[in-house]
Amino acid sequence: MGHITSIDGLSGTELFQSKDGLTYKDFLILPGYIDFIPDDVNLESNISRNISIKIPIISSPMDTVTEHKMAIGLALIGGLGIIHSNNSIEDQLREVERVKRYENGFINDPILLSPENTIADVIRIKERYGFSGIPITVDGTMKTKLVGIVTNRDIDFEKDRNRKIKDVMTTNLIIGEQGVSLIRANEILKDSKKGKLPIVNRDGLLVSLMCRSDLIKNKEYPLSSKDKTKRLVVGAAVSTHPGDRDRVDALVEKGVDILVIDSAQGYSSYQIAFIKEIKKKYPQTDIMAGNVVTSAQAQALIDAGADSLRIGMGPGSICITQDTMACGRAQASAVYHTALLAKKHNVPVIADGGITNIGDITKALSIGASSVMVGSLLAGTQEAPGEYFYDNGVRLKRYRGMASLEAMDAGGGKRYFADDQKIRVAQGVSGTVMDKGTIFDFVPYLIQGVRHSFQDMGIKNIKDLHNELYSEKLRFEKRSLAAQVQGGVHNLYSYKKPIIGAD
Ligand code: GDP
Ligand code: 5GP
Repeated sequence: MGHITSIDGLSGTELFQSKDGLTYKDFLILPGYIDFIPDDVNLESNISRNISIKIPIISSPMDTVTEHKMAIGLALIGGLGIIHSNNSIEDQLREVERVKRYENGFINDPILLSPENTIADVIRIKERYGFSGIPITVDGTMKTKLVGIVTNRDIDFEKDRNRKIKDVMTTNLIIGEQGVSLIRANEILKDSKKGKLPIVNRDGLLVSLMCRSDLIKNKEYPLSSKDKTKRLVVGAAVSTHPGDRDRVDALVEKGVDILVIDSAQGYSSYQIAFIKEIKKKYPQTDIMAGNVVTSAQAQALIDAGADSLRIGMGPGSICITQDTMACGRAQASAVYHTALLAKKHNVPVIADGGITNIGDITKALSIGASSVMVGSLLAGTQEAPGEYFYDNGVRLKRYRGMASLEAMDAGGGKRYFADDQKIRVAQGVSGTVMDKGTIFDFVPYLIQGVRHSFQDMGIKNIKDLHNELYSEKLRFEKRSLAAQVQGGVHNLYSYKKPIIGAD
């Protein structure tokens, strides 16, 4: 049986012709024809002109959502984390570096020491980067010969931290020769049963390093988001403030994959000039610009050179912008109209804020978004920054808007043109969210849910979904208030709320 085009309901054009602002709750997607299983659904998506990820979930650059643990975890399972910039340049760089150094193919700039360094130096490296397998060269740089390697096993029973490395290092090395392919080098690593494979040139100089643990990570996380050199992909936020020009230089130097210009209202002379400046200096680094909600705003940032757009002004769970500033747009309308414009330029749009459950993810994708950006959904997971605490027996973590007074005090006003103003007007609140466990369980649960909803629509991937949207085959229906009530849990005396999904 073939796919029967439904003539019920409304096309995207008809749904959004209405002059009312629509949110995700205001509409449903009419079901399609199922002839495949959820596992056949492929959620790979372009999130900027040059970057695609396997699951369309990006974590917000917020100081209670994304630091290295979140970014590493999400990239491993196929998404992307954006490191917040509510910190010093050094702190943000450290977070980015931890992600970029987490997994690799050939490591071309391994951390090195010399025989004259001490065990204490190895421990310091372990604390900062999380690894302790260090190649040793004559003077601790790539310019001199490889003479040994230090690993955890050389030092784990050493009590004297001041002992020199030359006294403990392993000198009997198995090495690979420069020019060896990644596949061959992996075989040597496997066969040697060693943890590290230094690659050297004819003169005995180290050219790169490979780690056995990367083979294992690669096997465990087949969907992970990686760059050309097999490092995890990561984004970082920057503001349009003049001081952040140095931030951009430093982030690009560290190999950040995408810069996110973090501004609540992106249609500004500052942002347009900044995008042009960055694109001129670093044409190879993608920029996610924003935030925007109208076609005119989107057009201006695309014209300036944006490779991706972040959509949303006021839908966030911690956000009071629409009430305070009177500006903003209902999120579904914002996503639909900006996506319609951006697709003409091949620029993906990211639906940012207001995603409260699995259905919202599918709905955002169904009206043109390439991916969603989430804050509250991932706040409260083990990988989000901050400690758990109990309130009335419930395990919680803090979650706060970057324009809450609390976050602005810590440096977050940059997003809102506010940090040099004497009187601060909050555009966000701070609060708490429940423990959601680890993202390694929670995100696959969300994604499996999205796969099921794609199955219900009868659509196997995001590209087809967008084709169906724009060819008007995808049909929607507006939900009356009564329909919304009926669609939720009702007429029960009590019920157990799932962790997300039931309001
Ligand atoms: P180690 O045995 O303590 O070195 O740690 P593992 O081998 O378990 O993990 C090292 C991880 O850090 C691997 O995923 C590497 O790709 C990554 N890494 C990134 N940069 C470096 C580096 O400069 N040196 C080492 N040893 N590992 C690095
Ligand atoms: P959530 O996923 O929690 O609904 O929304 C997260 C998004 O809200 C962020 O990605 C960001 O765009 C936006 N946001 C973060 N902090 C604030 C804030 O303090 N005020 C406003 N207006 N928006 C915020």
